[in-house]
Amino acid sequence: MKKWQCSVCRYIHRGDTPPDKCPICGVSGDRFVLFKAESNADGDAQPSEPASFAAPASVYEKVTGLMVKHHTHPVSVHIPNGILPVTVVLFLLAWAFDSELFVKAGFINLIFVILALPFVLFSGIIEWKNKYGQALTTIFKIKLVAASLTAATCLISVGWYLINPQVLSSSKAWIFILVNIVMIASAGIAGHIGGKLVFKD
Ligand SMILES: [Zn+2]
Repeated sequence: MKKWQCSVCRYIHRGDTPPDKCPICGVSGDRFVLFKAESNADGDAQPSEPASFAAPASVYEKVTGLMVKHHTHPVSVHIPNGILPVTVVLFLLAWAFDSELFVKAGFINLIFVILALPFVLFSGIIEWKNKYGQALTTIFKIKLVAASLTAATCLISVGWYLINPQVLSSSKAWIFILVNIVMIASAGIAGHIGGKLVFKD
């Protein structure tokens, strides 16, 4: 049986013909190429390195090439994705118990998310450009929207708290909580799709 590789996400399809559409990244079947495997010692197929890693021209390309090669994006996303649930739980506790301590703790957590986000977004864009050829299929569109929504809601939360540190004791507390729930949901969606692209299942 032949093997076909998606030229965008490198998913391997087994069959006599390529699939109509990539089940992972969603590009059409004409983006599949016949997979010529170099066998390793066990005889297993090893996908070749993407061409974009070859002979980088500038320092920028060298740095971004290394960032993609060493999986900077999937590694760095764990900073905000790890902190965000803690932040939201702290804000919920602050709301439920009218506790200033929990509000402050939640806000401090959010600061770390804000600090990590520029790097996470930048490495994500770099990976999308270098590794996936800026393919704009549904999966990448959802990921871009979810990432933007995470950043926007995070900025709104921080800005709102700075303007009114008593927001969780005010009548608008539920809107603040809602903004935070949108933030965690969009981060979750972006992360889930990212996992699908990385692990191909
Ligand atoms: Zn694909």
